Amino acid sequence: MERWLKRGMGQAESAEADAKVRETVERILEDVSRRGDDAVRELSIRFDGWDRRDYRLSDAEIEACLGRLGRREVEDIAFAQEQVRNFARHQREAMRDVEVETLPGVVLGHRNIPVGSAGCYVPGGKYPLLASAHMSVITARVAGVPRVITCAPPYRGEPAAAIVAAQHMAGADEIYCLGGVQAVAAMALGTQSIAPVDMLVGPGNAYVAEAKRQLFGRVGIDLLAGPTETLVIADESADAELCATDLLGQAEHGPDSPAVLLTTSEALARGTIAEVERLLGILPTAPIARQAWERHGAVCVAGDDAEMARIADGIASEHVQVMTRDPDYFLRHMRNYGALFLGPRTNVAYGDKVIGTNHTLPTRRAARYTGGLWVGKFLKTCTYQRVLTDEASALVGGYCSRLCALEGFVGHAEQANLRVRRYGGRDVPY
Ligand code: NAD
Repeated sequence: MERWLKRGMGQAESAEADAKVRETVERILEDVSRRGDDAVRELSIRFDGWDRRDYRLSDAEIEACLGRLGRREVEDIAFAQEQVRNFARHQREAMRDVEVETLPGVVLGHRNIPVGSAGCYVPGGKYPLLASAHMSVITARVAGVPRVITCAPPYRGEPAAAIVAAQHMAGADEIYCLGGVQAVAAMALGTQSIAPVDMLVGPGNAYVAEAKRQLFGRVGIDLLAGPTETLVIADESADAELCATDLLGQAEHGPDSPAVLLTTSEALARGTIAEVERLLGILPTAPIARQAWERHGAVCVAGDDAEMARIADGIASEHVQVMTRDPDYFLRHMRNYGALFLGPRTNVAYGDKVIGTNHTLPTRRAARYTGGLWVGKFLKTCTYQRVLTDEASALVGGYCSRLCALEGFVGHAEQANLRVRRYGGRDVPY
């Protein structure tokens, strides 16, 4: 039976925080829906101190942002983007269209059709999260989305040069310097100056994630990718420095980011708690990471790998870093996770920034029912059918007619009966 040496915040407190976020988002969506650009501008001033008539960045502004970066920085962004593009292309190739003759003369198929337009949110309140531009804009482009637009908030009072460079290099058609709920609402609902999109994607804080949730239905969304979470699974083969570093590396995202250690070694658990304290004394982002660790940090000691896999599936964390003797055990046995990082040589930061898998991943246990963002999320799998022969139409029509009668659908039955009479040359008994 597992033992928790440290546990995160209780559900009551988080339900109260959720209710406040929900109400704020409802009000903002209603305002943008009613007043369009005027509301967007007021909200941008209120939440980001950012006032412009036109939030779309001009070519000259984009060039100026690129010019503010050094050559090495541009090359690093290009390298990361190439990795993301390359893996996305492999995933796209694996998504074949299907056409098959299922009965003599009956052909069924599906096509994977990209959505017409996508709005990619790139978060940037606390840190200029340029990596999110690769993850959504490039993936949309590889999927074949014809119009890809993107929004990111201002950073320290101006467009974040590195984000804008990444959005541009990723191939975005329109780049807006606009943050939070107002950005997501403007892309989804459209305003006088921004044409609406068919689908919203990308991560963000609790407000952004809630806005996507409330907008779902009016537009498509990729998934709920809110405040980052991490789970480290380790046994005695791992060391406390690796575990503590990997916990705090994600806790620094924000005070609402859970970081959990699950281990079979009590010595490692206690060593990691001590090492976290030591690192919090020197990490420049400790003011944020400490809040996350104190409110949401957790440490659990379990009996064996099987018990750790079971607990981890219950947590359904966004990121799962595995540092055990047999990391692939968790690949074989776990069901619920956003992304797995197997073995000590890789880690969540590689995935977040550069290695090529997508970093937009499910949070708050959404990993029970979805994986992360990938080309498939931008594709609609739409079916079609053809019946090639009279015999096939009459055969299927007979079954269809009887099944429609069972449901009491007379009109449906007549659709079938007409085909049986026309193509089978016989009456249909009622
Ligand atoms: P953000 O861009 O998501 O949010 C900033 C915006 O929030 C601001 O522009 C502002 O308009 C709005 N805002 C702030 N306070 C508000 C309030 N009280 N009411 C209404 N709107 C408000 O940037 P961030 O805040 O730094 O958050 C980024 C988040 O993205 C982090 O939580 C991080 O963990 C998460 N993230 C998640 C994933 C994933 O895949 N799940 C990946 C990367 C980042």
